[in-house]
Amino acid sequence: MHFHTQNVHFPAKEKAKEISKTKPIYQTSAFTFSDFDDMEQYFNGDKSYLYTRMGNPNSDDLGRGTAELEGGEAGVASASGLSAILAGVLACAKSGDHIIATQDLYGGTWSLFSSDLQDFGIEVSFVNMEDRAEIEGAVKENTKLLYSESITNPLLRVEDIEGLAQIASSFNIKLMIDNTFATPYLIRPHELGADIVAHSATKYIGGHSDVTAGVVTGSAELMQKAKAKVSMLGSNIGPFDAWLGVRGLKTLSLRMEKQCANAKALAKALGGAAGVKKVFYPSAASARGNGAVVTIELEDDRDVMAFSKHLDWVKVVPTLAGLETSVTYPVATSHRPLPEETREMLGVTKQMIRISVGIEDERDIIEVFEQALKSRGE
Ligand SMILES: *Cc1c(COP(=O)(O)O)cnc(C)c1O
Repeated sequence: MHFHTQNVHFPAKEKAKEISKTKPIYQTSAFTFSDFDDMEQYFNGDKSYLYTRMGNPNSDDLGRGTAELEGGEAGVASASGLSAILAGVLACAKSGDHIIATQDLYGGTWSLFSSDLQDFGIEVSFVNMEDRAEIEGAVKENTKLLYSESITNPLLRVEDIEGLAQIASSFNIKLMIDNTFATPYLIRPHELGADIVAHSATKYIGGHSDVTAGVVTGSAELMQKAKAKVSMLGSNIGPFDAWLGVRGLKTLSLRMEKQCANAKALAKALGGAAGVKKVFYPSAASARGNGAVVTIELEDDRDVMAFSKHLDWVKVVPTLAGLETSVTYPVATSHRPLPEETREMLGVTKQMIRISVGIEDERDIIEVFEQALKSRGE
């Protein structure tokens, strides 16, 4: 099957008892049984569901659907991207272990890794993932995991996942990739050697800005561990949120196709525009496109705050990936938790605006940004 077909036909046909064309929402905290013998069947493995914190058909659907598109054996959904990341990390590392992460992480992940994980007794080293010697130099005897993002935020660096997989396997450690910005429409990290793929399904998988959700995918063995963490930490996703995630996921390929095409056109149009110092947009992220996020850096004499007031119908938000074009200010949102000197070292500046390109007509998108630039932010 080609991606557009596969995308809408998950999960693979199964013998279903239901006759509903879409999956019903199992809005229930628990499942009932005819008698105690019947309940025992759950513990024998003959029945799948007992108690929603431990599993529910809707959360399984979101996990399995994402795993099928990512090419992973299994998937586990959870209440947010961060809880999915935590479950994936804890499937590989425990107190006393060490992990190595890229220094240009999404801010929330950076906070989780630089403080909360340390509280759990897991030590984290942050490195420049483009420097092989630095990564290898950071590996210790207790290193269990190498962690990065397929397309980074907000500078949109495309990670060399195959290269990282080589390093990880040479030290016998696992590789985990946050694939939120790329989605399996563009990049499938498992095919490049990643053991665990994580998503903030709040972004492109959900796609409609109406749900907070996360998913990790990987081998059945690793996902069994991740699922146990989600269950024990109580970070399971509610049935309706999981259902919304699945509803969104089914149109991932259509949305990404359109949003990537619009982003490419916008990046090109803003390339030579007066007032724009630099446009960040990948050139070879994948054969299908380069993502739907464009980051621009305004000239030093431009007032970023004023620019944000001239964006007409474009939404100002702290996030990305909805149907509508939106902007955010990375130093104030996604990268707020990072120390200023880290931001400066990464090149995340106060003149930077991150644009999440939506599904509108590309002519309108280009026009609204050109108008805002012309206003000179007065
Ligand atoms: C938003 C985001 C997260 C965190 O996801 P939540 O759903 O907000 O918990 C993690 N990684 C990336 C790249 C993100 O954009």
